[in-house]
Amino acid sequence: MDQTGITTETPKSPWGSVAPAAPSCSLAEVMSEQLARQLDEENNSFPALSETGSELLTADEAADTTSDLMLAQMLQMQFDREFDDQLRREEKKFNGDSKVSISFENYRKVHPYEDSDSSEDEVDWQDTRDDPYRAEKPQTTPRKGFTGKGKNITTKHDEVTCGRKNTARMDNFAPEVHVGDGLGMDLKLSNQVFNSLKQHCYSEQRRSARLHEKKEHSTAEQAVDPRTRLLMYKMVNAGVLENINGCISTGKESVVFHADGGSLEEQPVPDEVVLKVFKTTLNEFKNRDRYIKDDYRFKDRFSKLNPRKIIRLWAEKEMHNLARMKKAEIPCPEVVLLKKHILVLSFIGKDQVPAPKLKDAMLGSEDMKDAYYQVLQMMQKLYQECNLVHADLSEYNILWHEGKVWLIDVSQSVEPTHPHGLEFLFRDCRNVATFFQKRGVSEALSVYELFNTVSGLNVPVGAEDEAEFMAEIVALEKRNEDHVQRRGKKTFPVATEDGGPPPLKPDTDD
Ligand code: ADP
Ligand code: MG
Repeated sequence: MDQTGITTETPKSPWGSVAPAAPSCSLAEVMSEQLARQLDEENNSFPALSETGSELLTADEAADTTSDLMLAQMLQMQFDREFDDQLRREEKKFNGDSKVSISFENYRKVHPYEDSDSSEDEVDWQDTRDDPYRAEKPQTTPRKGFTGKGKNITTKHDEVTCGRKNTARMDNFAPEVHVGDGLGMDLKLSNQVFNSLKQHCYSEQRRSARLHEKKEHSTAEQAVDPRTRLLMYKMVNAGVLENINGCISTGKESVVFHADGGSLEEQPVPDEVVLKVFKTTLNEFKNRDRYIKDDYRFKDRFSKLNPRKIIRLWAEKEMHNLARMKKAEIPCPEVVLLKKHILVLSFIGKDQVPAPKLKDAMLGSEDMKDAYYQVLQMMQKLYQECNLVHADLSEYNILWHEGKVWLIDVSQSVEPTHPHGLEFLFRDCRNVATFFQKRGVSEALSVYELFNTVSGLNVPVGAEDEAEFMAEIVALEKRNEDHVQRRGKKTFPVATEDGGPPPLKPDTDD
């Protein structure tokens, strides 16, 4: 026997040989496995589960039951839904045939917005990677206000047309108002009925906002709804993310989290990423509708989608815009993955510390001047090469990292031919010009010069009267809009062939 133990391959324990320890396994793990199996069996033995139930327990999701937390959340969601179902039954029983009914809605566990979602036409990153909207032309609609000839003329005040239009406009109601498929059954709503429905919808919306506000926004992690949290945990479970660390920012329209990247389909994900979660419950998005419903790339789909899906469209829009920017080599976050309303982007910063916004970056005068020229070049590239106007450009959406400016937050960016595209550009220019002038960059162009330099347009600056300049811009937009309506093409080119700015000519070609 070897007393010293030197020649033995594995060092011996001074207390004698120890039997190899059985792989450790917590009670919770055993339970979760059992539960998973049990749920799976139940799922198989009841193929005709209710809509919501089957959605939670589809085959691919059964594999997700390895995480206790996620399992608990899935069960909680299922429990909440069942609670609501029971509540609905009680409500029905209570009200019976009575003409006056009492609503139990306030006691529901699941926000109506989170409920009733289906995953058909789910947007996934694989099929949305390239920009299928580029080549599409805007739709032409008659602007003269009537169609047909002679006796068969139909004006825009026609009762049937108006009725149908009103039905379609119900789609703009708050997310929690179920308007049904009025278009499918060719419902025609009179103006009076439409207006009172709209009024009712507004008051309901305010009531619902009051009710759910407290419940949803208590702490940073709670800033996202349970369904979103589940989606986030699924990303961790699938190994796309190693870990979700914490919240970087909670804005009106989005919540941004820092996370450690894992791998996606064998490809490594950047070490540090952010999850930009577009908020699904806030109605602020409604105020931003004009950035998307007049964007011809998304217009058609916008009108057909429910508000929940529209929020996914914002995430998708940011993804496409970032892809264009990357192509033009504008420093910006890289898109890793899009899952519903969650966008995973590369992190701008280091060791969990995000790069400062330009507003907070402590730059010396040389760096500030340098930053200015970078921003100027970036704006030109964005307009000329990406065919985009940022539409929310300011020192808040530009980060300073490794001696470079990085452009972020482009979900609302539109093409210059958007009906208000040039006005958005002017606003961007004003923010940029004001910021750099205040920070003492003497080279900074005036807002008017900046606008012309970026767009390549020659809007006369004249007496530098803003109202006058704006009027010119609006006239340009109007002319472009008319042109688009008539010809389906733009009147002002993004850049002329020789690279010089196109002259601003009167519209001579009609
Ligand atoms: P919002 O629409 O809410 O303003 P942003 O895209 O501007 O959303 O993100 C909010 C904040 O989160 C930013 O000001 C920035 O500080 C941080 N942030 C967003 N994206 C990134 C990123 N890729 N890397 C580092 N920080 C980021
Ligand atoms: Mg922002």
